[in-house]
Amino acid sequence: DEPLLAIDGLKTHFFTREGTVRAVDGVSLTVPRGKTVCVVGESGCGKSVTARSVLGLVDEPGRIIDGRIAWQPGAGEPVDLTTLDPKGERMRRIRGGEISMVFQEPMASLSPMYTIGDQLIETIRLHLPLGKEEARDRAVEQLRRVGIPRPEERLDAYSFQLSGGMCQRVMIAIALAADPALLIADEPTTALDVTTQARIIDLLRDLQAETGMSVLFITHDLGVVAEIADEVVVMYLGTVVERGGVDEIFHDPKHPYTNALLGSIPRMGAGAGRRLATIRGNVPHPSDRPAGCPFHPRCDAAIGGVCDVSDPPHIVFGEARSVRCVLHDDGAAVGGDFRVDGE
Ligand code: SF4
Ligand code: MG
Repeated sequence: DEPLLAIDGLKTHFFTREGTVRAVDGVSLTVPRGKTVCVVGESGCGKSVTARSVLGLVDEPGRIIDGRIAWQPGAGEPVDLTTLDPKGERMRRIRGGEISMVFQEPMASLSPMYTIGDQLIETIRLHLPLGKEEARDRAVEQLRRVGIPRPEERLDAYSFQLSGGMCQRVMIAIALAADPALLIADEPTTALDVTTQARIIDLLRDLQAETGMSVLFITHDLGVVAEIADEVVVMYLGTVVERGGVDEIFHDPKHPYTNALLGSIPRMGAGAGRRLATIRGNVPHPSDRPAGCPFHPRCDAAIGGVCDVSDPPHIVFGEARSVRCVLHDDGAAVGGDFRVDGE
């Protein structure tokens, strides 16, 4: 089965006066049909830029300079989204119709000038051939699906009259209005309190199961990954350092960065503070990427004269399982143990 979305060697760079920022620098990942893929990493690792590249939403002075984004919602040849005009008709139809996106700040995504109903109905009519009344009925139905009580009344509400959690439900209703094959969710719960976060995650999981859509979920929160992911993509400084099934990532992490992230999750039941704790050192700015393995200045397993000099090899274990680290070359030190034979 061909994947729904296949990103291959994507490079999205920002050409600033201070120099080139290689925000996304050779990212490859796939989203299988009906699955949830989580992209995880610290802020600035390129996860949002990767997502925005899919939908032609890269802001100036950014540009996709290399790679393919193969989109294949049905039978037939895939479309390479990188070849479409971001402002063209085709991309406008795909965006919101076939692929939808929800963002971190639901309040900021909704206009305070129009009612919830206006915004929802507008999206519905943009993508579906429905009259005013039918679109309104569908809007009510969509609000009900995302768990908004008294949906008829809510149509006439404004975003500032709703809580953050309710606004995010409305954004999800808008995103799913045209039954997209892929939902991209960029930190959709980060701005919400912990209880609301859990409810929104549950809702997304239920909607995914109900519709069979695929989800590309971007987060820095491994607690969320554990809840929702089928597959996990770990990013660091614009590159994918490890990919695997959710159980493989949590129980058999291969990259020292993944391991450090996991080491920083507090024990179960801690409640608050499920975000990634700090790893030694800081993430360098992407315009100032270290030579060799980008993680080497922070890596406890780094090998002097190797990791600071040459690009780490990309070791592929299976279709959705790979790691970019010299420790796994030739099968040396596989597993959670970072010693290299002979060292
Ligand atoms: Fe650490 Fe070297 Fe592996 Fe990079 S390649 S993660 S520095 S051991
Ligand atoms: Mg981001």
